[in-house]
Amino acid sequence: MEIVWSAVDLEPVYGGVCVPTMGALHEGHLALIRRARDEADLHAQSLPVVVTIFVNPTQFAPGEDFSRYPRTFDADCEKCEQAGADVVFAPEVGEVYPNGPEAPIDPHIIIPAVAREPGLEERSRPQFFIGVCRVVHRLFELVRPSAAVFGEKDYQQLLTIRAMVAEMGLPVTIYSEPTVRDEDGLALSSRNVYLAPPQRKRALGLSKALKAARSATSVTEAESAMRSILLANQVEIDYAVVREAHTLMPIESMAFGARALVAGRVGAVRLIDNMAV
Ligand code: AMP
Repeated sequence: MEIVWSAVDLEPVYGGVCVPTMGALHEGHLALIRRARDEADLHAQSLPVVVTIFVNPTQFAPGEDFSRYPRTFDADCEKCEQAGADVVFAPEVGEVYPNGPEAPIDPHIIIPAVAREPGLEERSRPQFFIGVCRVVHRLFELVRPSAAVFGEKDYQQLLTIRAMVAEMGLPVTIYSEPTVRDEDGLALSSRNVYLAPPQRKRALGLSKALKAARSATSVTEAESAMRSILLANQVEIDYAVVREAHTLMPIESMAFGARALVAGRVGAVRLIDNMAV
């Protein structure tokens, strides 16, 4: 496996399968890399698998954890190699944003409607998906993959990227992988390392709430069950909703294609999770 620091050295791996990450890799990321390896090996001449590791400043709001986001580069590279990556691409901020991260976004980049759906991430992180679309678009420009893999853990992000790729006509197939969880149900996240043991226990409120939503018979019942479980676990709720699974618009009934999504804070740590219901 090779570590590439600058996009000028990426030409031999154009057309590969890309896994964009911010590093601090865990089993969730590794599931994405293994999926990328499997997809890449379906081709007669196996495609390269390129993992990008870049902590993207434009998706953090002022006061969020950009500067203290966990950085574990050497361990990440070892994990990438074991999971079947051919290349780790770790660009500098200046290569991803030649005019600086503060420069305005390229007006050609489409931020799809699903990114702005009221009552979800836009409520507490209005700039977040602008930063995500911007970095993913730029990474695709540098890596030129034929496919990329994203996790369902960040469900609104997955739909946003699928829609951006479709609406902009980008030649990249998007694959997704289910959320990888600890045995007790907590969705793996690079931010879980911030949780002290009692907070980690409270964080289980998110997956417990989602499981309760699955056994509810109406949207109202599901949403109120989720709120009570989150509150009982002292999770400060951002949202706890059931939405249509493709548009994330509000729905009337649980009968068909619904997704429950939760976000909240345990102490200073913001966590998100979701499940099909
Ligand atoms: P991040 O490094 O947090 O930006 O995440 C990089 C990719 O890994 C995104 O596509 C995430 O959705 C995915 N991911 C993060 N956590 C998990 C998880 N627990 N299971 C599956 N995929 C995940």
